[in-house]
Amino acid sequence: MAEKKKQFAVIGLGRFGGSVCKELYRMGHQVLAIDNNDVKVNEIAPFSTHSVIANSTDEKALKSLGIRNFEYVIVAIGDNIQSSILTTLVLKEMGVENVWVKAQNNYHHKVLDKIGADRIIHPEQDMGIRIAQHITSEKIVDYIELSDDYSIVELLATEKIHNRSLIDLHIRAKYGCTILAIKRDEDLNVSPLPADVIREKDILIVIGHKLDLKRFEEEGM
Ligand code: ADP
Repeated sequence: MAEKKKQFAVIGLGRFGGSVCKELYRMGHQVLAIDNNDVKVNEIAPFSTHSVIANSTDEKALKSLGIRNFEYVIVAIGDNIQSSILTTLVLKEMGVENVWVKAQNNYHHKVLDKIGADRIIHPEQDMGIRIAQHITSEKIVDYIELSDDYSIVELLATEKIHNRSLIDLHIRAKYGCTILAIKRDEDLNVSPLPADVIREKDILIVIGHKLDLKRFEEEGM
């Protein structure tokens, strides 16, 4: 049976919301795109399942779109913090299960947290951290912050670990990090086995405490 595709709604079609919408649609998901600006709605039409002009702070308008049936709603309203907060409040009151919201600043973040936003996103800060990590280390291919303490990093295997097996490297015992997957060209070896061997150009996807990951990156490879 084909994998069940999820239903998403994206509210606010600026640079961030527009990118989220296009990428979800490209991946084959159902995406409802909403903005109160008709130009934005027309622009996104070819890159979404449906696109509608609506004011997301208007509870009736959201109800008529059947928004409560969507598994995920992304609130990507930028500068208008008041609209972002009100929209989030209405969505949570309507019982939408997963409401992900772009925050503009720490004050906005705090309010979103209080009113029940399920995930609060700071795209500029997150991207800034990833670029900084990438630019300062030749080994780091990508970086995802999971919490203040934990991250996932993609590390390019160095010569030091080429042709060595995972068991041989004792990465978990020595560094407390876990190899989630090994990328080799287009292949992704998820949950690799202890006997799997790391080759040149492999990319390791590693999860762990930031300090442990740093130690592994600097000393272990
Ligand atoms: P970015 O920084 O990601 O480019 P913007 O602030 O430029 O974000 O875009 C936010 C979008 O949200 C705009 O297209 C704007 O028209 C839309 N928007 C703002 N308020 C509402 C609202 N109440 N209902 C629907 N869309 C809204």
